Amino acid sequence: ATAPVKVTVTGAAGQIGYALLFRIASGQLLGADVPVKLSLLEIPPAIKAAEGTAMELDDCAFPLLSGIEITDDPNVAFNGTNVALLVGAMPRKAGMERGDLLGANGGIFGPQGKAINDHAADDIKVLVVGNPANTNALIAQQHAPDVPADRFTAMTRLDHNRALSQLSAKLQVPVTEIKKMTIWGNHSATQYPDLFHAEVGGKVAAEQVDSEWLKETFIPTVAKRGAAIIEARGASSAASAANAAIDHVYDWVNGTDWTSAAVVSDGSYGVPEGLISSFPVRAANGTFEIIQGLEIDAFSRERIDASVRELEEERTAVRELGLI
Ligand code: NDP
Repeated sequence: ATAPVKVTVTGAAGQIGYALLFRIASGQLLGADVPVKLSLLEIPPAIKAAEGTAMELDDCAFPLLSGIEITDDPNVAFNGTNVALLVGAMPRKAGMERGDLLGANGGIFGPQGKAINDHAADDIKVLVVGNPANTNALIAQQHAPDVPADRFTAMTRLDHNRALSQLSAKLQVPVTEIKKMTIWGNHSATQYPDLFHAEVGGKVAAEQVDSEWLKETFIPTVAKRGAAIIEARGASSAASAANAAIDHVYDWVNGTDWTSAAVVSDGSYGVPEGLISSFPVRAANGTFEIIQGLEIDAFSRERIDASVRELEEERTAVRELGLI
């Protein structure tokens, strides 16, 4: 039998955590033959709720779940961790300035990055889900100088899956027939879901839809889907966000030819080095690699640049706040 993999989930008592933990424990994160140990990190007022979730995990008698730890101390939670899912974050509240939002999250992701730096396993992989995810990931990464920067990623897989679903409905094809979908930039309203490289039946997707639909319906529907879910459900998307986190890590570990993930830029496609921005990526041997050599037309260039500009502004703001 293989040794269990330690998976740490922050904000474990929240609604994404509730949708996520059971799928991890059932083997969907890493594979049906990989035992897992769960570590649940929460803030003190949420520890009791995390304990309740752990009781339910116990009651599932998952064959792959070898233990559960609950703590409010990041140094404990990340000790020996192989996979860290950073879900807990400070959401934007009405009337909150961007500086306040980034400052509050700096207070969460800075210390978590340092704890990962000091205590995590050598093969640590980090996925940041909590918003503003790209910049929270940057803050954590900057506090972990001893961890290779490419181990820090942020989630745009939900945007990617939403784009697949919208295009599938429009063209009346199964999602499995859509290849090479890409989300570029920030996980925010400025993100750019790209149909100029996506293919359906081996042909460019953008050529199979009218440009009016692409610009006026597809892009805004994908970018604003989170708000539409809140409007319909009275609560933010949780199961689909958890599903995307599972997809992201599963593909990172097990390999994929093409997906979207926010990874540390090496300057590819004119994205300034060091920013954590979404790209088309492949994964092999536990490493994401940015897919190179795509031609970017003027329309796409403008959209990518606008989203990357927002990431640069966020980086400047966290620098000025002394958070990185
Ligand atoms: P959720 O579990 O719904 O959301 C957690 C984070 O995920 C938020 O930042 C949220 O950003 C983001 N998110 C939500 N939906 C999506 C989506 N569709 N795609 C991408 N990101 C998404 O929040 P809860 O309030 O239910 O739970 C948060 C938990 O985190 C609480 O239990 C709290 O105690 C805990 N927490 C823990 C910390 C720690 O461990 N140190 C620190 C801070 C909080 P957005 O609001 O923008 O949707």
